[in-house]
Amino acid sequence: MIAEFPACPSLAGVSLVCPDCKAPLRDLRCPDCERDYPATGGIPVLLPSWSVFSEEAMLRTTGGYYAEKTREGAAKRAFRQRLPRVSGKPAALRSRISKMIASALATASSGVALQVGSGENPYALSAAHPHLRWVNSDVELGYRPDLVADVTGLPFPDASFEAVVAQQVLEHVYDPAAAAREMQRVLRPGGVLLVSAPFIYPLHGLPYDFQRFTPFGLRALFDWTEPIALCQDAGPWSALAVQLDSRLTNLFGQRHLRGAALVAGRFLFSWMKHLDRFALSPRHQATAASFLYLGRKLDRQLHPRQVMAALRNRPAV
Ligand SMILES: [Zn+2]
Repeated sequence: MIAEFPACPSLAGVSLVCPDCKAPLRDLRCPDCERDYPATGGIPVLLPSWSVFSEEAMLRTTGGYYAEKTREGAAKRAFRQRLPRVSGKPAALRSRISKMIASALATASSGVALQVGSGENPYALSAAHPHLRWVNSDVELGYRPDLVADVTGLPFPDASFEAVVAQQVLEHVYDPAAAAREMQRVLRPGGVLLVSAPFIYPLHGLPYDFQRFTPFGLRALFDWTEPIALCQDAGPWSALAVQLDSRLTNLFGQRHLRGAALVAGRFLFSWMKHLDRFALSPRHQATAASFLYLGRKLDRQLHPRQVMAALRNRPAV
């Protein structure tokens, strides 16, 4: 009997395995490692032994491990979220990307999909694509995910999901190659992979900020997939606005001056992202803020030269 976690309805029908050795769990216990995994408030915590996140620290903190580490309180976060956003997609790009994602996910007719690093707003995907049942995983208990898992050691059997999504997550992962292997392992052949990650973007979420990705680096990580699309996710004007905003704030060391500069920056630079509607063609990608890769899982791993041949001949998206 493969473990299901009864306290959490969104995990019904989803098999759980040991993130370390992949043996099927029984009541959150690994019969091979003899390790008991905890659950708190109905959320199982299934971290591999090599995780950068400590299970003990996570269970001990009340405000959430990641939030506490990044030292941003709830009040400050709420205030920041009310200010105009400096980066973002123009409507033309947002609609193009949404259509592309919807058309790829439409082929995953029904079943269970996984969102890794589901974050503060975990339900946007399930609202947009309700024909799939979404399992949300995160390393932040405070976001109330369905489970706490580390993408470098996922607690699911091979080929568990119709789709696997990680938006703006990989830059925060200690070992992105391991994350890519795991995301592809739990995806069924023919299933849809969606990842986005920043390219030109300031440090954030310190110290859990490890990488930036070119579109080619992003694609190369996922060598068990064929590309559906590889394109900018947020454009060069967005990137420039964020640079200026960050530069302005970081001119100051004193807390109140920094706060004032942060607010001023939002009003001074937030208009700039709208110019990205005129920067949609590939030649504008050189300094884009973020890239998106949409792929379909193959039944075999591609040779690096196969990956590169397809990239040299890729159509402009
Ligand atoms: Zn085990």
